[in-house]
Amino acid sequence: MKDCNCIFCKIANGEIPSTTLYEDEDFRVILDLGPATRGHALLLPKNHFANLFELDDETAQKAILVAKKMAGKMKDALGADGFNLVQNNGEAAGQTVFHFHMHLIPRYENDNAGI
Ligand code: 5GP
Ligand code: ZN
Repeated sequence: MKDCNCIFCKIANGEIPSTTLYEDEDFRVILDLGPATRGHALLLPKNHFANLFELDDETAQKAILVAKKMAGKMKDALGADGFNLVQNNGEAAGQTVFHFHMHLIPRYENDNAGI
């Protein structure tokens, strides 16, 4: 987003390079810098919303569809045994970057990811 000083705005809009797994008009899916498991990715909307409470309905609907599509593809490509879809809102809930994002976390038998 123009003139926005948010790191995920810059990544989502390509101003800061990232390892991108998927991109469309509204979203970018990138690898997490500190992965909980192999293939841990983040789904970022290109528009800025701090959290789920700010997210508009249209973006929310599109986000879950992208998450669903990516989860299936990643599970197959990575040979994962399971999958967590995680989304934190507010410091008390563990949110550290205040630009709405979903964690796409492939899980493997006995991975001890502690999620
Ligand atoms: P939260 O705790 O807010 O739900 O998740 C933030 C996530 O963003 C963390 O898993 C953290 O590793 C990841 N992260 C923070 N800064 C960056 C960054 O600059 N690039 C990428 N790819 N991931 C980041
Ligand atoms: Zn942002």
